[in-house]
Amino acid sequence: MPTLVKKIDALLPQTQCTQCGFAGCMPYAEAIATGEADINRCPPGGTAGVQALAALLHRPVVALDLTCGPHLPHRVAVIDEATCIGCAKCLKACPTDAIIGANKFMHTVIAELCTGCDLCIPPCPVDCIVMLEDANFPALTNKDVARDRFGFHQFRLARNVQERQTLLAEKERAVLGA
Ligand code: SF4
Ligand code: SF4
Ligand code: SF4
Repeated sequence: MPTLVKKIDALLPQTQCTQCGFAGCMPYAEAIATGEADINRCPPGGTAGVQALAALLHRPVVALDLTCGPHLPHRVAVIDEATCIGCAKCLKACPTDAIIGANKFMHTVIAELCTGCDLCIPPCPVDCIVMLEDANFPALTNKDVARDRFGFHQFRLARNVQERQTLLAEKERAVLGA
């Protein structure tokens, strides 16, 4: 990976929320490095983030692009466990695998692993996830841990797809061979 992309990525919050319009912090870093995207598209990074990117790239500071969303204080997701129907749709959406649970069982968020990205909210069919700003809730603010967990999440999803394809191919072979 080019050094400039790495340096840009190091300044991004690793919330992995996609509000910048890219599929995570690293793709946004790549787009900034190639000039495809401006430096003001990261709401979690806020003005401080724009200033840091401007300093790195020797560019003028510009205002945060509010079409990407407002800068909000750090929040964590909390599941109303009495309402959760155990559909597991939030599991796939969570970039840091901060949600635990199994099909048809209640799910819960490990606050220490939650980046506050909001991505689990839209898939929930019963709207039982809320984002809370509360100093008593720990949250994942360590960028390196968030980056690593997102990398493993992507690996896990790709591996699941591969395993499903292998299983389907084996079934097909069995049917054809019968
Ligand atoms: S924190 Fe969200 S908006 Fe900022 S770069 Fe990462 S994915 Fe994009
Ligand atoms: S629990 Fe929800 S808000 Fe927290 S990191 Fe996962 S998807 Fe994002
Ligand atoms: S998407 Fe909502 S209902 Fe489904 S498991 Fe997650 S929290 Fe529970």
